[in-house]
Amino acid sequence: MKRIATPGMTREIINKYKIRIHKSLGQNFLIEPKFIDKIIEASDLQKNQVVVEIGPGIGALTQALAEKAGLVIAVEIDRNLIDVLKEIFKGKDNINVVYGDALKMDFDQLVTDKTGNNYNLPYKIVANLPYYITTPIVMRLLEERFNFSALILMVQKEVALRMLAVPGTKDYGALSIGVQYFCHPTLIKVVPPTVFYPRPEVESAIIKLEKREHPAVEVFDERVFFSLVKAAFGQRRKTLLNSLNNSGFALRKEEWHQVLIDSGIEPKRRGETLSLREYAVLANNLAHRK
Ligand code: SAM
Repeated sequence: MKRIATPGMTREIINKYKIRIHKSLGQNFLIEPKFIDKIIEASDLQKNQVVVEIGPGIGALTQALAEKAGLVIAVEIDRNLIDVLKEIFKGKDNINVVYGDALKMDFDQLVTDKTGNNYNLPYKIVANLPYYITTPIVMRLLEERFNFSALILMVQKEVALRMLAVPGTKDYGALSIGVQYFCHPTLIKVVPPTVFYPRPEVESAIIKLEKREHPAVEVFDERVFFSLVKAAFGQRRKTLLNSLNNSGFALRKEEWHQVLIDSGIEPKRRGETLSLREYAVLANNLAHRK
């Protein structure tokens, strides 16, 4: 079978199946095999492994994943594409196309249902993500603690930079902390808009997030930790003390001042200057007060 990820094949499939491209579903199909190869290389797949693909589209990446992995489970929300994918991959018994919403799916359950005990788990998740829901999908995959070992993702470049950002930079925020708390992120490659059809307006990047065996810092109550991080970045131009004082936590300003001092953090600092470790100390002191 010819490679799907070329301008010619993409056009042929779109015409043959009369596919309507939905911008609202973030449908930008990859049409350049070189970048598919980069994703595959970064995914480091083996024949005894399962890979879950989010948003297979017309199968450009799915096809290449199936050549390397034991089983590909591809979750797509566009019902029309489900029939197209089943037709394109008819007879390929290691590609399993599933209708579903990545924002609601229980990925562990999905993998258990589809595999029995025939593969080495945990699985990997690989995706050219729909840009409009990248952050919610990634945060959900991490916070729900699904049992994958790595995420290999194409995302908007700006989002990749936020995932990699260090304290004190403009890109550093709640997403940086969420990603780095659970994973080791690596930038694989920046990708130009020209390799998608239709072309997005922005640059993209391939990023690999390898799940840590244990989170980067010890946190007693993750809900407190993540609420604190969100509150601290809620009003970036304010001091930490003022941002926290205006958040939903039931603490008075003097109490916040004391918790910050007890945590070794100067209250006049801004949220974007705190390291992961400092957020953990602060969250643990806060959880301790309750
Ligand atoms: N993987 C294909 C490729 O690289 O050419 C398509 C990638 S396209 C950027 C994103 C895909 O995600 C589309 O096929 C879209 O329909 C699908 N999608 C959008 N929202 C989704 C959701 N909530 N759950 C699952 N798939 C979704």
